[in-house]
Amino acid sequence: SHHLARRLDEVGFSDIVQIRNKVLDLRAAGQAVHAFHGGEPFFETPEAVKYAMMKALVENRTRYAPSSGIEPLREAIARKLQAKNHIKTTAEHVIVTAGGAHALYAAFQTVLNPGDDVLLFSPYWTPIKDMITGSEARALFVPTTTARRNGITQTLEQFSTPNTRAIYYNTPQNPSGTVFTRAEAEEVAAFAKKHDLIVIADEAYEDLVYDGEHVSIASLPGMAERTITTYTLSKSYGMTGWRVGYAVAQEPFMTGLKKMVLYSVNGVSTPTQWAALEALRLPQSYLDCRLEQYRERRDLLVAGLNEVGLACETPAGAFYVFADAKKIHKDSRKAAATLLDKAHVATIPGVVFGAQGEGFVRFGYAMTMEAITAGLEALKAFGIKK
Ligand code: PLP
Repeated sequence: SHHLARRLDEVGFSDIVQIRNKVLDLRAAGQAVHAFHGGEPFFETPEAVKYAMMKALVENRTRYAPSSGIEPLREAIARKLQAKNHIKTTAEHVIVTAGGAHALYAAFQTVLNPGDDVLLFSPYWTPIKDMITGSEARALFVPTTTARRNGITQTLEQFSTPNTRAIYYNTPQNPSGTVFTRAEAEEVAAFAKKHDLIVIADEAYEDLVYDGEHVSIASLPGMAERTITTYTLSKSYGMTGWRVGYAVAQEPFMTGLKKMVLYSVNGVSTPTQWAALEALRLPQSYLDCRLEQYRERRDLLVAGLNEVGLACETPAGAFYVFADAKKIHKDSRKAAATLLDKAHVATIPGVVFGAQGEGFVRFGYAMTMEAITAGLEALKAFGIKK
């Protein structure tokens, strides 16, 4: 009989897809839905990037390119990594990928063997667990709030096993909006060095830090040689559908990543890469302006949620709020279902993002101010007991 490969046995599809489909069904049936379930910027791709794509097409830049990425884009990425992330690198140690997801997938496939364990802070971006199990490794969940309260080092020691090979380290963190401090990054780095671990650093939200600073763990002493850092243009530049991101790593990891990309997609579409180069040429003021728009949205949503009885802290980064929904139901799936059915407010149950999310729901606020206000009105009308 025909089976799937065993490595897919524990790989699932996230509930997020089901929620997205339910929202589409409700809308098709004429129901207005307040869409807090998403993770996509409210703004469109910059005009300059769109025109660069058109120019690339008109100039017939439509043929095979080096599978790791066109030289000018890798050069621009290397310069950005040095200047902004303080990661010492060259264009040879950069690879262009089909979004952050592809970079992460390639990274896990590159370093994990069957039976390896990977530490990750929970709650976490759901696909990570599936990428790890799809690499025939096991995810070990380290509760973020416990770690921040009791000490990062001590908590990592507690959850680690003799088979631990890597740490997935995401800052700013989806779904909680946590931004790890420099001191915390140093603790993670010291732990990785002490136990000779590889770090897979996910910096998809590097440009969305409201309070504190973004610290690239690969910039810390002795870390560049044991870290694969992944990035995406999706969130910073409103380019989710373009599917373009990149990774930076030293050898032997870069050779591994190059093999993974060569034998999967053989490179990102050539005109897309020329357009991506234009995005990287946008001034820092473009990103600063977006950050201020997000900050405004965060402050509106956090104040509003606390007012309607969904308690939440002010997240320091990304564009999500993890709100306590136990007053609605202590089972977060039921709480999210109630919010959707009764208030037409779509959120994602926290349990989807790992054990530490139970009782919480995630609100995304990459929306217009008007849409956030309307959603808060709907919550107020629904009436959550204080
Ligand atoms: N990492 C995190 C934490 C994310 O939330 C996302 C997107 O939601 C990604 C990586 C990957 O994004 P993309 O594949 O669109 O580049």
